[in-house]
Amino acid sequence: MSARKNGIIIALDGPSGAGKSTVARLLADGLGYMQIDTGAMYRAAALLISQAGIDVTDQLALVAFCNELDIRLELHNGRQRVVANGADVTELIRTPEMSLLTSRTSALKPVRDALLKLQRLLGSQGGVVLEGRDIGTVVFPDAELKFYLIASAEERGRRRYQELTLKGEQVSLEGTIAEVIARDQQDSERDLAPLRQAEDAIAIDSSHLTLEEVLTRMMAIFHQRTESTGSTL
Ligand code: C5P
Repeated sequence: MSARKNGIIIALDGPSGAGKSTVARLLADGLGYMQIDTGAMYRAAALLISQAGIDVTDQLALVAFCNELDIRLELHNGRQRVVANGADVTELIRTPEMSLLTSRTSALKPVRDALLKLQRLLGSQGGVVLEGRDIGTVVFPDAELKFYLIASAEERGRRRYQELTLKGEQVSLEGTIAEVIARDQQDSERDLAPLRQAEDAIAIDSSHLTLEEVLTRMMAIFHQRTESTGSTL
């Protein structure tokens, strides 16, 4: 199935708060694969654009800025850090304000073009779990294994709320659910690479599943697929 050097490409798409990041990390760890969090890359790009005060309606300026974006996912003491133009922005990009700003910025073509190129470069050798919104449909439509992780908006909002309050953010449950719904809408209604399930993606609804159950399912499907097709791991 896979002629890639380091293994297959696993695409993990789905709406915000469905648990993609945790699942992607554990899946990648379990397989000895690299995790590529494309949402973190869009967040870093949104932060840099806003910090630089770029007028996003000025196409030329935006294209020029995006061509120079330097966004890296680096491992420090076993944890993935997001480094943007040389600065560690891992925590800075995780606020609710950044989530909404990213959702708007990620609809812009110059931003998507620049990050698409980078994501293809990082993933093409295989041995990767890429998580995002458009991995199975746009970035790697030829990915050997595609998952689409979903959960109800209430459940996703509740999980996000727990995550944020644990970090000391002052947010309300209702506000967090509303933010999740607003982002779903922005991400699925945009013209470019909208959030949608690839035809050949396997959907998993995590609303009533534990993390372990989701992982066990994915691992079983991975082994089924790779063993039946004799794919290189
Ligand atoms: O996954 P995460 O919530 O960190 O993503 C932040 C935002 O980045 C999303 O709401 C979406 O607008 C954008 N994104 C995207 N395409 C991807 C990954 C994320 O447009 N592949």
